[in-house]
Amino acid sequence: MKELVINLHIHTRYSDGHASHSEIAQAAIKAGLDAIIITDHNVLVNGMEKYVRSDNGQVLLLVGEEIHDPGRSPQKNHMLVFGANHELAPLAPNPQKLVDSVRQHGGLSFLAHIIDLAAPAVNEPDISWVDWDIQGFTGIELWNGFSEFKSLIKSKLHAVFYAFFPNFIARGPSPAALEIWDKLLVNGQHAVAVGGSDAHALPASMGPLKRTLFPYEYHFRTINTHVLLPHDLNDNLGEDRRMIFQALAHGHAFIGYDLPAPTRGFSFSAKGFTQTAQMGDTIPAKNGVTFQVRLPQPAECRLIKNGLPVKIWKKRQSCTFITAEPGIYRVEVYTQYYNQRRGWIFSNPIYVI
Ligand SMILES: [Zn+2]
Ligand SMILES: [Zn+2]
Repeated sequence: MKELVINLHIHTRYSDGHASHSEIAQAAIKAGLDAIIITDHNVLVNGMEKYVRSDNGQVLLLVGEEIHDPGRSPQKNHMLVFGANHELAPLAPNPQKLVDSVRQHGGLSFLAHIIDLAAPAVNEPDISWVDWDIQGFTGIELWNGFSEFKSLIKSKLHAVFYAFFPNFIARGPSPAALEIWDKLLVNGQHAVAVGGSDAHALPASMGPLKRTLFPYEYHFRTINTHVLLPHDLNDNLGEDRRMIFQALAHGHAFIGYDLPAPTRGFSFSAKGFTQTAQMGDTIPAKNGVTFQVRLPQPAECRLIKNGLPVKIWKKRQSCTFITAEPGIYRVEVYTQYYNQRRGWIFSNPIYVI
């Protein structure tokens, strides 16, 4: 398996971001990412996908879209769309039609920032996902860096503090988002979880204080989605893009908060009587299954079954667990950073049937 670190929720000047595609790609190279997916609001920007190279390395730049209904008030229900290759923004007023059309065009749909609470101190409305009757979407953006920032702004002073000390922000996906995800999984929907930055690099000012809110490079060092591919990229744009989208569609991926320590190298797999499974896969319970978790460094590791912890390991780097019970098993890892307990790694589930 080849692990790729990607950031998949990014805005350029084509919507409300503050840099060009190539400037953002250079920031991604500096941060050590392997691929980025640009997702401007309601515009699929054509002709931008390519490998971008510099003296420091290369990144694969892909383009998707973040679609919402501008006629809706407040503007909830944002959806990340990858690989559909068609402008589907006009379908936004009907999320089910949009999901169906994305699927018909061979694309993926992720409900963006599913919990994105209002921040009245800075006049930001709640833009959570609300239309939970829809079916057939690929997954959800479980952890969104910008939503988490919004959730902490209880006053203008908080906004200034976190703008200057962003390392204090990220603690994990909101408990409400985790609860929604577990409910979807238990109800039989194989919803894939991804993490995104929602990078804009917004200029902000308060009196004499001026600051770029979270430069792109900062975002790219924080919450990323790590995808597991059958083999390395091979400089064939069509094939590489397909391989990444397939890995995302199957949930061969985990979310890593890479700032406290790099999460590259994390693995969660299951070995059964006749087969093995990785994140996103299904494996029979018959004759028992052995889970193996390996962390890049010792941390607190929790094995979750159907939304509830079944085993907690403290300060461990390698964990195993044997079961013959069917269920939906996923892993959460926590570590300390700036004296706070932080969510570090959130795996996609392995389905034991
Ligand atoms: Zn959004
Ligand atoms: Zn966004």
